[in-house]
Amino acid sequence: MGYLSAPIRYMMENLNIEVIEPPPITRKTLELGTQHSPEGVCLPYKITMGNFLESLEAGADTLVTLCGAGKCRFGFYGAVQKTVLGKNRDIQFFTLDTEHLLRDLQRLLGKFAPKAGQLAIGRNIALTVHKLRALDAINEAKSFYGARAAVPQKTLDICEYGAGEIANCETFGEVIDTRDTVIDVMRSYEQPAAAPPKVAFVGEFYVLLEPYANRWLENELIKQGLEVKKFVYTGNWAYAKVLLQTLGIYNEEKEYLREARPYLNYHVGGDGLKSVGTTAWCASRGFAGVIHLFPFGCMPEVVAQYALKNLCEDYKLPLLTLSVDEHASDTGLFTRLEAFADCLKRKQSLTSE
Ligand code: SF4
Repeated sequence: MGYLSAPIRYMMENLNIEVIEPPPITRKTLELGTQHSPEGVCLPYKITMGNFLESLEAGADTLVTLCGAGKCRFGFYGAVQKTVLGKNRDIQFFTLDTEHLLRDLQRLLGKFAPKAGQLAIGRNIALTVHKLRALDAINEAKSFYGARAAVPQKTLDICEYGAGEIANCETFGEVIDTRDTVIDVMRSYEQPAAAPPKVAFVGEFYVLLEPYANRWLENELIKQGLEVKKFVYTGNWAYAKVLLQTLGIYNEEKEYLREARPYLNYHVGGDGLKSVGTTAWCASRGFAGVIHLFPFGCMPEVVAQYALKNLCEDYKLPLLTLSVDEHASDTGLFTRLEAFADCLKRKQSLTSE
């Protein structure tokens, strides 16, 4: 999922665990996953199923996934995939509970790397979270400076190169130095021009974070000269789950609920409440528009969709709703995206005249 895999691979190999990483997600991954999935299940299930099948083809015998205890299908992914994949195959399947992520991760790494010791395991987990947060920072910078660069593609390339460098850093200090250098290089391409329109990118966690699932929409928006603000980042999530939740000081939901009222008054599973809460936050902070992206049939985001319609209407905030599944066409998505971006840029130029 996005840039999650490279630091995790580094962590496991650093503990002398052999890793067979699935190949990058392609049409084949999705088709394979879809063939072995219930028809109506959501897109992240189908893609991760494809990832597992491609990993097994490549020789993996042990599969690891995450499982949430929320009100949506994510809570069942692990159990169903384990049953389907375990038929006629001799595999081990481990599920890490997102409510006890640190505990489960320590146990798993302790099992795979019995000689490593808890100190080495703890240090490796901390370094991985640190890298993921640095990757969040360069991705945020990519959006900010990319939208202000004469050739946005250059900023996107710097970000991609920098991500590879951060994933391979060996120490905490190296991570910070690399992050700062990458951001400085991006900054050097900034053009002195009027601030570009700022767009909030909200929706379901997986499709926001995995570029194949969102068809690289974030980069497309940056290339069109729009600054994209996401509120879901892998490193922040890992930091909150591994550290803040373990310390009992993770209470993000309360804040979203406060922002989302009166448009949505309950937690509806997945990221539904977060989508509405963050949009409400953006509505009163000068954002030019909102793009709401989710997998077709995603229950929490369908609930959020109606709250968002009312909210955006009240605040006169342009809203583009996109749902994706295995049938989504790039052309259809990009056409809508371009039209939306043009409207926002035109609106900004009219109001600044
Ligand atoms: S949030 Fe939506 S897409 Fe994600 S697992 Fe839950 S139901 Fe599926």
